[in-house]
Amino acid sequence: LFKEAPEGWVETKHMEVSKVDFNPDTVQLDVGDVVLKVLYLSLDPYMRGRMRVGGKSYSEPFKLGEVLHAGGVAEVYRVGGSAAKFQKGDIVQGMVGWEQWTVARKGQLDGFQKVEVVEGVPLSYYLGVLGMPGMTAYMGLLKICQPKAGETVYVSGAAGAVGLVVGQIAKILGCRVVGSAGTDEKVDLLKEYGFDAAFNYKTETDFIKALEKYCPDGIDCYFDNVGGEMLDAVLKVANRHARFAGCGQISQYNAVEPYGVKNLMQMVAQRILFEGFIVGDYMSSRADFVRDVTKWVKEGKIKYTEHVVEGIEKAPEMFVKLFEGVNIGKLIIKVA
Ligand code: NDP
Repeated sequence: LFKEAPEGWVETKHMEVSKVDFNPDTVQLDVGDVVLKVLYLSLDPYMRGRMRVGGKSYSEPFKLGEVLHAGGVAEVYRVGGSAAKFQKGDIVQGMVGWEQWTVARKGQLDGFQKVEVVEGVPLSYYLGVLGMPGMTAYMGLLKICQPKAGETVYVSGAAGAVGLVVGQIAKILGCRVVGSAGTDEKVDLLKEYGFDAAFNYKTETDFIKALEKYCPDGIDCYFDNVGGEMLDAVLKVANRHARFAGCGQISQYNAVEPYGVKNLMQMVAQRILFEGFIVGDYMSSRADFVRDVTKWVKEGKIKYTEHVVEGIEKAPEMFVKLFEGVNIGKLIIKVA
């Protein structure tokens, strides 16, 4: 449950684990309602922004005292009547509660999609490389950065759910790819996944110097997952007509005082395009993403790492740890 809106860093005290009696076999259903058995739950940085009371943003705030919500993969356990959109046994993805069982009422089913189960592809991938984060990587890179073969693409937060996919797609497109992440283990993973260079931003703390070292030809495309000081440094190193995809600013999500970017004049001097985006803006191109990324995963051209933690009761602790960088790849809670 969402217990208290954090000011600054999110802590486990802002959430509460609550046990209630629930019988999926007897709960009252109207025609079209379904009972979902939650299999996997996705923990994502944007949820920190929903932990607020009021205020304007692109996503609704969570409601105090009520169940938190997240992307999930679930099995349809029971359907009310025969007119339901899904059949018993279907695997679906959509927004579920942070709970073991979710009752989705008829009107709430529009946001759910049936998962076409592909042999050899884990169901949890529909929360990562084949789900929202993968689509974010695909759209931000292809629609905004529009990299050309031979250009340098730099992605921050590179060993996370989105970043891993950004780098590998950029490699498929023939780019020189550089990533940064917060541990040496993550840096090694990036190199294993074909990144041309990678660095640990917690040990190479002069970001401009590091970027000049690892991007000797400058930066043509920046996929920004972190914002703040890193964004400021990239502005200094970016080439003329560079394209920045403003995907997220995780370094700022728990900040009380936001970092003040100083090098914005570089946007003028270097004619830089910076476009922020929300993945949901690109639903009309979703089929392209599903087609291309499913193919690349099946061909082994995109590899993926998941950080799977078992047990719904671990969700609050793991959500806090997401901002400490504990996850390598996509952070997933295995519920059932
Ligand atoms: P990740 O899987 O990358 O997990 C978050 C990671 O961020 C952590 O593991 C940590 O790795 C890194 N991090 C945490 N704090 C900081 C910091 N202060 N500075 C730099 N890195 C930090 O998350 P996602 O891949 O799911 O999300 C990446 C970004 O994309 C986020 O900003 C998110 O909000 C955004 N996003 C935007 C969407 C959109 O539609 N615009 C959709 C989905 C995601 P490390 O060890 O490297 O520090």
